[in-house]
Amino acid sequence: MAKKIVSVVRYEKPHHSVRKAISDCEGLKNLPGPARVFIKPNIVFWTKACNFPKWGVITTSRVIEDVVILLKEHGIDDITIGEGIVADPKDTETPAHAFKSLGYKALGDRYGVKSLNIMKRPFKKVDLGDGDFLKFNEDILESDFLIDIPVMKSHNQTVVSLGLKNLKGTINIASRKKCHSPDQIKNLHYYISKLADPMPPGLTLIDGIYSLERGPGFDGRMRRTNLLIASTDMLSADMVGAKILGHDPSTVPHLVYAAKRAGRPLDLSDIKISGENVNEVSAYHEYDFEYDQNLEGEMPRALARQGITGLYYRKFDDTMCTYCSALNGLILTAIRQAWQGEAWDKVEVLTGKKMEPSPGMQATLLIGQCIYNKNRDHPAIQKMFAAKGCPPDPKDIVAALKQAGIEADEALFEQVDQLPGFFMSRYEGNPDFEEEFFRVT
Ligand code: SF4
Repeated sequence: MAKKIVSVVRYEKPHHSVRKAISDCEGLKNLPGPARVFIKPNIVFWTKACNFPKWGVITTSRVIEDVVILLKEHGIDDITIGEGIVADPKDTETPAHAFKSLGYKALGDRYGVKSLNIMKRPFKKVDLGDGDFLKFNEDILESDFLIDIPVMKSHNQTVVSLGLKNLKGTINIASRKKCHSPDQIKNLHYYISKLADPMPPGLTLIDGIYSLERGPGFDGRMRRTNLLIASTDMLSADMVGAKILGHDPSTVPHLVYAAKRAGRPLDLSDIKISGENVNEVSAYHEYDFEYDQNLEGEMPRALARQGITGLYYRKFDDTMCTYCSALNGLILTAIRQAWQGEAWDKVEVLTGKKMEPSPGMQATLLIGQCIYNKNRDHPAIQKMFAAKGCPPDPKDIVAALKQAGIEADEALFEQVDQLPGFFMSRYEGNPDFEEEFFRVT
């Protein structure tokens, strides 16, 4: 069987580098003449409240525009950029702000490109086999050609987030939550491995101008990497992308699932690389957060180093979905700020959908409706303080922390919109990190 081609190209300049990456893998060879083309960027997060670091977090507008130019040269007029950005489907202002800021409106004026907030569009239930159903955006399903443009990032739940993982933004919120299932087999990785199954043929173009360590969000470590990876075969692009991020595909559960179903090897032996040598350009991207476990408790290393004791903040697992994840970092920050140097009295915090209380705890905090439903009658719980809701209301989280003796500052939760802006200072003055990549001028 012919090998799948994956191109690995250094990003050097506008127009030229994207063109080379796509032509080296014959990326538009199967593009039908008058096709409806759907471009799926990765806009994992957006806020109107402040400027925030986007490098390695969001697909660059530079790459998007270069792809649009190529499509126009191929005579394609029906081009749609679609993304489902936010947790609250009623919030149409944030996606509109993102599309305008990223220059998608300018692409509309200049090239006739449509941009869609898929949360405002219909979803269609798709049978993925084996009794699995998810609801996908109809526009992408009905398009003739998909150009999937993820960012090159490692991810704290899925090891890497590339072409397959980027498609999670095309399903509705209920389906996204379903993907974070506590089932041992049909878990997050299993569902991600199936997301490309109903997609039209297309091209995956991994935007590695910037890459991200410990993604997916603005709190990860951003790098200027200057690479583009492209293939008409999404799994092949992802396997090469994982390798370049320093993770063997055999260690990435969703790639293992996908390769197994496709009857493909994980060692890249059925892939032909065009361009850069993968071993020479690969650089290890840490994906996980470090936690410490000892007699004094379990918690993220940063909290342990601060000297915090008496707290059991169990490590999040892959059942905690995006909406609770967004609050998790804030809760940890609130706990760090609340620490006065005196050990708390065995307070345990549980999140996600499958954790169980440890025996011997004095107080148990249940964060989110899922973990409350699972443990509300658990006999090991002495005192329970719950922040119910899906996702839980920050006010209820503050109240639960206070009831457990942790004097969290509610102001921190009220200023949540400003938090991403604080991360900008890490990159200020560094000429490698240019806002220009996220504009269409
Ligand atoms: S409570 Fe949290 S983990 Fe459960 S479905 Fe809602 S957002 Fe996801």
